[in-house]
Amino acid sequence: MIIDGKKIAAKLRENLKKKIIDLKSSLNLVPGLSVILIGEDTASKIYVKNKEKFSKEVGINSEVIRYPENIEERIILDKIKELNKNKKVSGILVQLPLPKHIDKKKVIETILPEKDVDGFHPVNVGNLSSGYESNIPCTPLGCYLLLKEVEKNLSGKHAVVIGRSNLNGKPMAQLLLKENCTVTIAHSKTKDLKAECNKADIIVAAVGKPKLVKGDWVKKNAIVIDVGINKIDSGIVGDVDFDQVSKKARAITPVPGGVGPMTIACLLNNTVECFKRANS
Ligand code: NAP
Repeated sequence: MIIDGKKIAAKLRENLKKKIIDLKSSLNLVPGLSVILIGEDTASKIYVKNKEKFSKEVGINSEVIRYPENIEERIILDKIKELNKNKKVSGILVQLPLPKHIDKKKVIETILPEKDVDGFHPVNVGNLSSGYESNIPCTPLGCYLLLKEVEKNLSGKHAVVIGRSNLNGKPMAQLLLKENCTVTIAHSKTKDLKAECNKADIIVAAVGKPKLVKGDWVKKNAIVIDVGINKIDSGIVGDVDFDQVSKKARAITPVPGGVGPMTIACLLNNTVECFKRANS
């Protein structure tokens, strides 16, 4: 089974659109998303354009605030403080990566945790790892929802998460733990990654190495979620060798068309959740 991220993301957006219509009729307000984009990074510009497009599609009031690469850090922090106070803004996102002279940690910690739609603020990270309600980083949330489409009950499954970034691997491991999986987090210093993967009922690969996970790394009938986006001569590929692994796995996400579309849908979902909490 190939997990159709495009279709599942479209379904999620359709549900959000309906939710927003209901919220608008009861509160006479709609969720608002403010995205700060600094510089001219091509990939960031594409991501932000798509965030804007899909926000509009579901009925979120979105704005993109653009700054040149050499903008002073102080101006960004002041803008975030202003957005924190603005009642029309439910969610704030600062597109990463940032120019080197801007301190990522300071930027993330300036966003109010209640408006941190990326789920990167230490309060949200702490709440997620404590098992409390929190904003959950969009990509792992998307992976989790894809997994749940394939298998409702993840309890007792052995999951191997490859990668330990704050963006993907760590929050993914927390989400799987919450579902009562037994979780192994692998990284670049893991001794025998193939042997670890061979034990897994679920593999989530978030590495950034083209086709790292091979067919003989995967147990028959495992579920494989590929977060990787790698540009090679033949185009975009994931961290999983799709041709090999799709012959063994019970379900697998393609790249593109798997996790990618879910990331933006989950950002919209997080914005709606922030709005609901702010107005409850
Ligand atoms: P990252 O911050 O660079 O982290 C990569 C992780 O992979 C690190 O923990 C690293 O280990 C580990 N690693 C590197 N080489 C390895 C190896 N040979 N074996 C095992 N582990 C290895 O990357 P990221 O931000 O999490 O992104 C990972 C991938 O996901 C990238 O391709 C990125 O483009 C993609 N991505 C996709 C989406 C989406 O929406 N689909 C969103 C975000 C990112 P150490 O910690 O030991 O260095």
